Amino acid sequence: MYFIFRCDCGRVLYAKEGVSTRKCVCGKSLKVKKRRIFKKVESIEEATESVQKMQEEIYGRSTFKKANEIPKKRFLN
Ligand SMILES: [Zn+2]
Repeated sequence: MYFIFRCDCGRVLYAKEGVSTRKCVCGKSLKVKKRRIFKKVESIEEATESVQKMQEEIYGRSTFKKANEIPKKRFLN
């Protein structure tokens, strides 16, 4: 089982059941049990897919990259 939840910064994360803390790319450590769980899924594939879908809804498909590819700093033109 994997839990889908969001960080305060807005990013969508997933954590495997039993994992107590998850660190977001923004640097914040999140206690999984204290987060509101949006979704529970069975497999890692569903977890990554759910995260991707939620990120797309939030940020839009065009700007979305895989969660681990989101740069820490935004590039300004
Ligand atoms: Zn964050």
